[in-house]
Amino acid sequence: MTDHDLAIVGAGPAGMTAALTASRLGLSVVVIDEQQRPGGQIFRQPPANRSAGPKAVRGYPWGHRLVVAAEAADNVEWRYGTTALGVLRPAPPGEGIELVVRDDDGADRISVRSLLIASGAMDLPVAFPGWTLPGVVTAGGVQTMLKAQDLLLARDVVLTGGHPLLLVVAGLIHEKGGRVVELAMPRSQGSLREMTRALGALPGHLGILANAASTAARLVASGTPIRSGSIVTAARGDGRVEEVDVARLGPGNTLVPDQTCRTVAADGLVVGYGFQPSTDLARQAGCELRWDSPAGGWVVAHDDELRTTVPGVYVAGEPSGVAGADQSRAEGQLAALCIVHALGGTTVELDREIVRARRALRHTNRFASTVQRMFEPPRQTLAALADADTTVCRCEGVTRERAETVIDDNPFISSIGALKLECRTGMGPCQGRYCELTVAGLLAQRRDMSIDEVGAFNAQFPIRPATVGELSRMAGDRPSPVAQDG
Ligand SMILES: Cc1cc2nc3c(=O)[nH]c(=O)nc-3n(C[C@H](O)[C@H](O)[C@H](O)COP(=O)(O)OP(=O)(O)OC[C@H]3O[C@@H](n4cnc5c(N)ncnc54)[C@H](O)[C@@H]3O)c2cc1C
Repeated sequence: MTDHDLAIVGAGPAGMTAALTASRLGLSVVVIDEQQRPGGQIFRQPPANRSAGPKAVRGYPWGHRLVVAAEAADNVEWRYGTTALGVLRPAPPGEGIELVVRDDDGADRISVRSLLIASGAMDLPVAFPGWTLPGVVTAGGVQTMLKAQDLLLARDVVLTGGHPLLLVVAGLIHEKGGRVVELAMPRSQGSLREMTRALGALPGHLGILANAASTAARLVASGTPIRSGSIVTAARGDGRVEEVDVARLGPGNTLVPDQTCRTVAADGLVVGYGFQPSTDLARQAGCELRWDSPAGGWVVAHDDELRTTVPGVYVAGEPSGVAGADQSRAEGQLAALCIVHALGGTTVELDREIVRARRALRHTNRFASTVQRMFEPPRQTLAALADADTTVCRCEGVTRERAETVIDDNPFISSIGALKLECRTGMGPCQGRYCELTVAGLLAQRRDMSIDEVGAFNAQFPIRPATVGELSRMAGDRPSPVAQDG
C-alpha cells in the first residue's frame, strides 16, 4: 500500500507542470521542494509574507499562470521547506518506491508508485585564484538574493562568464542601483553556422531573445563596458574581493601564456558560465548518467517516455540536460502523461495528449539544443584557471597542487572515484557537486583522457547533510538506502 501514486521532487516549471497534469488525470500527487513557494529557479518567489502574489517574469508569459495555478491546486499535496534526502533500496516489484524527505520536524518516508525527479540545475562552479573570497558569487546566486530577498551583492560589480543569464543579472544589478563596472565575456557570439541554425528555431521564443536584447541595449546605453574575448582570471582582497584580474583570450577562447592582466577595482565579482544538472538524487537512486557537455555535463539517461534506468523513476527538466524553462515545462507535461499511462491510464484522449506533448517537446528541443551549442562553457580554459594553491575541493580543503601530486604519485588512478579515495576530493558534505568537474578536468588532462572517461562521483544517502536525530524519526524495520560504490 503506497501513500501516493506519484512523488515529484522539484516545484520548478517541470515539477509544477507534471503535478498539475497528473492530478488532473486522477493521480494522487505529492510535490517536495526545499523552497518555501513554487516556482523553481526561474520563477522563484519572494517569501509569502513579502508579496501579495506571484511575480511575472519577462519573456515567459505562461510562468505567472503556472505559479498561480500551482498555488491554487489543493488536489496536490505540496510539501515546501522539505528536502528529498534519497531513495531507499527498491522494494520488490509492485511495492513502490520509498523516498526519504526531511522538514522542520525531521526525516520522514513517503511510499509512492512512481517518482519524478525534477530537481533542476545549479550554477557551474569554476575554481580560480580567489574564487572562495567573500564577494565572489555565481550569477544564479546573485539573482536568487535579488529575487528572494531584494539583496544587492555589492556596489561596484564586475561580471565574467559566457552565459546569457549574466546579461540578465547585469541588468538587475543596474536596476537596483549597483554599478556594473565591466562585463568580461569569453565568447562574443556564435559562429555564422550556429546563428543560422538558431533562426529556424526562433518562432515561439522571440520573447526571450527580445528580453536579452533589450537588457544588453540598456547596459550599453548606460555606458557599461561589455568586453568580449576577455575573462577574469583571479580575484584578490583582504577579507573580501577588492580587485580582479582581467585577461584577453586567444583564438578559440584559450588563455594566452604569460600575459599581463588588467587589474580592475570592484567589491563584487559575479561568475556565470552556465549551469550543471542537479543529478544527486538520481545518482543516489541508482539511475545511469551520460556525459553531454553542451547540455551541462552529466545528465540523467532516459528513454523517450522520460523513464530512467531505475524502474518507476522518471526525470523531467534540467537533470535531463540544461535546456531552459520552456523545455522543462514540456518535459514535465510529457513525463506526467507517460506516468499516468504506465500506471494504467488508457484513454484515446490520453494518447492524443501524449502526441501533442511530444510535438511540443520537439519544438522546444530545437531551440534549446541550438542555444546549448552556442553557449557551451569553454571547459578546458576554465580548468586551466586554478593555480597550484587554489582550493579545488572546498569541503575537504584540497588544492590543485595536492590533487595533481596524488594523480602523479598513483599512476593506476584513472577515475575520479579512485581519486576521491586517495585525496578526499568529493568526500565532503556537498558530495562533489562543487569540485567534480574541476577535479575531473585535472585528472583527464594528466591522463590524456576525456572527462566522460574519468567518470562521475557516486552520491550517497543522505544527499544533503542530515543529523542522526533527524534520521532517527524514521523508525521501524524498513529497507536501507540504495548504496553506491566509492
Ligand atoms: C540559480 C539559477 C537561476 C536561474 N535563473 C534563470 C533565469 O533567470 N532565466 C532563465 O531562463 N533560466 C534561469 N535558470 C535556468 C533555470 O533553471 C530553468 O530555466 C528552469 O527554472 C528549469 O526548470 P526546472 O523545473 O527544470 O528546474 P528548477 O526551476 O531549477 O526547479 C527545481 C526545483 O527542485 C528543487 N530541488 C532540487 N533538489 C531538491 C531536493 N533534493 N529536495 C527538494 N527540492 C529540491 C529546487 O529547490 C527547485 O525549486 C536558472 C537556473 C539556476 C540554477
